[in-house]
Amino acid sequence: MLITHDTECALGILVELLNTSADACGSEQFPDLTALGAFVARHRISEVDSLTAADLAAVHRLRTRLREVFSADSTVQAAELVNAVVAAAGTTPRLTNHDQHDWHIHYFAPHAALGDHLAAELGMALAFIVMAGERERLRRCEAPDCARVFVDLSRNRSRRYCDSRTCGNRLHVAAYRARQRAETVSTG
Ligand SMILES: [Zn+2]
Ligand SMILES: [Zn+2]
Repeated sequence: MLITHDTECALGILVELLNTSADACGSEQFPDLTALGAFVARHRISEVDSLTAADLAAVHRLRTRLREVFSADSTVQAAELVNAVVAAAGTTPRLTNHDQHDWHIHYFAPHAALGDHLAAELGMALAFIVMAGERERLRRCEAPDCARVFVDLSRNRSRRYCDSRTCGNRLHVAAYRARQRAETVSTG
C-alpha cells in the first residue's frame, strides 16, 4: 500500500479522535479543554496556540464529519466528504523540518486553529487512503456492541475489531480457539 509514515501517523491520530465521541465509546472523551489539550500534547501537534471553547466545538464538529467518511456508501461519496473537509480548512502545503524531524509536509496553514489544523492533516491522510484505492481499510469494529472505528493496515486486510481492550480480547480469544482447533487437527 502506497502510504507514507506521516500518513500512517495521521491515521493513528484520526482513529483516536473519532473514538473519543460518545457515539463511539459511550461517553464523551473530550468534554473540556483539559482533555483536548492533553490530546494535543500527547501527539505533539505543532503550532497550536492556546485553546478556546470555539476550538473544542470545532473539533467536535470535525469528528462527526470525518466519521462520515468511514460510513460512506461509495468512493465518490467519501471523496466528496474529504474534499469538503479539506477545502474548508484552508490548506497551504509547505515543506518543513521543524524540531529535528526529517523534511515533511504540513498541510495546515501556519498557526491554524486546531479544528482547521486537524481537518487539513487528517483530511489529507484520508485523501491518500482513497487515492491508493484502499478505502475499504476504513472500518467500523465488528463487535456488536462497539461503534469504534479503525484503519486496517494489516497486509491481508483481515482485521475485524478495534483495539479497545474488550474487543481486542474477543479477537485474541477467537485466535486462541482457532489455534487450538488447528493443533487438534494437526495432532489428532
Ligand atoms: Zn510537522
Ligand atoms: Zn471494538
